[in-house]
Amino acid sequence: MKGKQLAEDWSGLSEEIMEDVAGWRAQHPQATLREIEAELDPRLSGLRARMITDLANSGASAEWESAQGVVCPECGAKLIKKGKKKRILLTRDGQMIELVRDYGVCVACGQGIFPPG
Ligand SMILES: [Zn+2]
Repeated sequence: MKGKQLAEDWSGLSEEIMEDVAGWRAQHPQATLREIEAELDPRLSGLRARMITDLANSGASAEWESAQGVVCPECGAKLIKKGKKKRILLTRDGQMIELVRDYGVCVACGQGIFPPG
């Protein structure tokens, strides 16, 4: 995915959040600071999780494409690409994100890994 496309997706998404929250505020002129935070935080958290997911997924295959390829952390032999697998991770603020990662298996020792990235 191209950087520019990502930025466009995110700005569309953040615009929706801003409008949504501004609309909510107009309907809740008496809202307390806590209530405002409670409305805003989950939305921003969702945007953050989306950005992390997109950023992580967009860099994922770079290492596989490099000349030296990906090597096994156990024995140093070259890994054979075994397609993609999904990985569910939690962000620091507890949002669940789904990463799609290339998965590799070592021909020498049979170790299966997700390369870092
Ligand atoms: Zn190995």
